[in-house]
Parts: sequence; C-alpha cells; structure tokens
Amino acid sequence: MSQLSKLYPNARCLQILLLAFISTITIPVCVSQQQSVKALPTQVASRNTWRGASFPVENFRGYTSAFGYRRSATGGSNWEFHGGLDLAAPQGSYIRNWWAGKVVKVADRNACGTYIVIQSGQWEHKYCHMKGHVETAGGGRYLIDREGGVQIWEGQQLGAGTRIGRVGMTGRTTGPHLHWGLKYGSNYVDPALVLRAMYAQQPTNIQQTAVSQQQLVNSKVSEF
Ligand SMILES: [Zn+2]
Repeated sequence: MSQLSKLYPNARCLQILLLAFISTITIPVCVSQQQSVKALPTQVASRNTWRGASFPVENFRGYTSAFGYRRSATGGSNWEFHGGLDLAAPQGSYIRNWWAGKVVKVADRNACGTYIVIQSGQWEHKYCHMKGHVETAGGGRYLIDREGGVQIWEGQQLGAGTRIGRVGMTGRTTGPHLHWGLKYGSNYVDPALVLRAMYAQQPTNIQQTAVSQQQLVNSKVSEF
C-alpha cells in the first residue's frame, strides 16, 4: 500500500477506487466524493446567521465580474481564476466591513492594489483596488486615505458596517469597483452565495420594501 501511495499521492481516492473496484462500482464513487467537496462553500455560506452582516460597498451600481474561471480581465486569451466578486461603484464610494473582525493585513503593491484583509473566526475577507496607500509608524502598519478620512491599522478590531476605505483604481483594474474576496478555512467561497444567504435572512418587511422600491423604479421607467 505504501508503494502505491508513492505512485498515487491522493491515497484516499485510491483507497476508494480500490474498494469500489472490489464492489464493481468504479468511477461514480470518486466523482461523488468530489461533488461533496464542491458543495461545501454553499453549506458554509447558508448555515451562518447573517443578520449583523453589512453589504460591502455604498453607491452599488452592479456586479461586473463573477467568481470563478474567466478570460483574462486585461486582454489576451488566457483563462484565469477570479477569486472574488466585482462590485461596481463610483470612485470615492465608501467600502464597509462585511463582518466584525480583526485586520490581519494591509498592503499596496500587487494586482490587488491597495487592499485590506480582515479575519472573522474561520472567515477571511479581502477588499481590493482601494484609494490610499500603506504607511508605517511605531513598528505598525496602516492603510491611510486622508481625503476619505480613513486610517485602518493592522491588528485593529472592526465592527460590521464600519467604513474601512473607498473605491479606487489601484492595482490591476479597468474601472472603479470593489473586488471582494472571501475564504472560509483557507478555501475560496463565492461571495454571491453569502450575499444571497444574507438577503434570504433579512426580515420580511425589509425585503418587501426593497421589492416595492424596485417596482417604483420599474413603473417610472415604463412611463417614458
Ligand atoms: Zn475582481
């Protein structure tokens, strides 16, 4: 068995295949294992109570790029993994902390631009392309956006809904938006799953208000 483990690093899958071979069921067992792993993000997104969670950006205009594999965002024919959800909003719109937690990283020198990572238990949430930059003082690091009146320190505790920065154009981006990334236990989770779960858990009267406002907009549009 140890010899086989060297040849096949995914030993657990091999064991399942061997067992499956004995019972004459081969591939379907392994496939169903993979499917159960894929179902995990949906489970973690929907099993939490999101009553205290905040939508992550003000002046939201629409979703411009979904989570998952896509063609290169900046041209070319390469496929790339998009590890978050893009939410368009005008430059300078405030970004709000989704869930209470601790700032574990501020940085400003890669494709993500000026960004911040916040940890809330097993969850890690990342906000990219913000205005401002990182400075250091007294051995600490902080994100500073003086025009927006925002200063966020690494190690700082933040409540849900706190303004943590503003939408900018730093890093690899073709237009102003918030790139919002989520991980649970170091695995990527599609933020759209969490937003849907948050919406589903809103009190019914808030949902009705949102719907009636949408109906109002629709009726205005249809008049012209
Ligand atoms: Zn993005």
